[in-house]
Amino acid sequence: MFRHHIRAAREMDLPLVIHTREAEEQTRRVLQEEKATTCGGVLHCFTGSAEMARWALDQGFYLSFSGILTFRAAQELQQVAKSLPLDRLLIETDAPYLAPIPYRGKRNEPAWVVRVAETLATLHDRSLEEIARITTENYCRLFRVGAVTTEARDPQNALLAYPIGHALYLNLTKACTLHCEFCPKWSAGPKVHGYDLSLRRHPDAEAVLQAMGDFSGYREIVFCGFGEPTLRLETLLEVAAAIKQRGDFRIRINTDGLANRVFGCDVTPRFRGLIDALSVSLNAQDAATYERICQPALSDSYAAVLAFIRAAREHVPDITATAIQGVEGVDIDACRRIAETELGVRFRVRYLDRLG
Ligand code: SF4
Repeated sequence: MFRHHIRAAREMDLPLVIHTREAEEQTRRVLQEEKATTCGGVLHCFTGSAEMARWALDQGFYLSFSGILTFRAAQELQQVAKSLPLDRLLIETDAPYLAPIPYRGKRNEPAWVVRVAETLATLHDRSLEEIARITTENYCRLFRVGAVTTEARDPQNALLAYPIGHALYLNLTKACTLHCEFCPKWSAGPKVHGYDLSLRRHPDAEAVLQAMGDFSGYREIVFCGFGEPTLRLETLLEVAAAIKQRGDFRIRINTDGLANRVFGCDVTPRFRGLIDALSVSLNAQDAATYERICQPALSDSYAAVLAFIRAAREHVPDITATAIQGVEGVDIDACRRIAETELGVRFRVRYLDRLG
């Protein structure tokens, strides 16, 4: 019957809702044999292993957590939930069953799903509002029911400035000089943590600052978005200068490290006093791997990234090089060695499909 159900879902192009208990191996085998990835779906009321969770994400499934996530004895499950990318998670009631703490044992009510959201928020160090927005967006995407939250649709703020955790992220452009094979913008569209980051025009500094509103409560301002922020260098520096004028806020740029290659000169001295941190996508341990997975539009891009990091060390106090675990051919240990030993900067591993 499981196979029939999967075939029906594929035929109708509708997402599957799967409840599996103590049958991970069989579930994986049947889903694979029936090519269930083509219709996708959700592993509902998930209580499985970390291995099962990663497998399901790799296959394009979502995972949904019920009141069990709030149970004191569910520490293992909580660690699994903590390790997963938020943009693939749902929350659910399973009412009238599985009432969350502090209602455990009572007849469950849909309204109590907020307890599951609170637990997820604590595990990911996010606000309850963020979890509500992200899981709502995930639900809309999975079940194709259209509407998203009002905040993500807000034309004034959502596209140019968006909070994630304790940081305010800024969105200056959707353009890149790379075409990274692992970038979700080629498959999932310009969505990050439920925010629609598609831009119809390039905003000027005034528009960005207006969208930021009162940013005094954030620990960090991050130039990121769904494109390469240094392609808008003048706007970026103008916004950074205006932020610094208002106080000693920490400013970071998440970058591909190709600004010097793009502008044909060393732009890093212009960061001095404005930019406190750079997170640079090293991405690979050698030029050949970089060329294959990032498909740069400009020649010698890998060498340019290394040179950019070396130059930036003179002007930016905190530099981290990153690479993504799980991309075929990427040697994380070798990337770490290059960052820490050859370039003298910190190194951070990122994970495939985990955004923000
Ligand atoms: S540089 Fe970043 S945004 Fe651009 S394609 Fe690569 S991963 Fe995506």
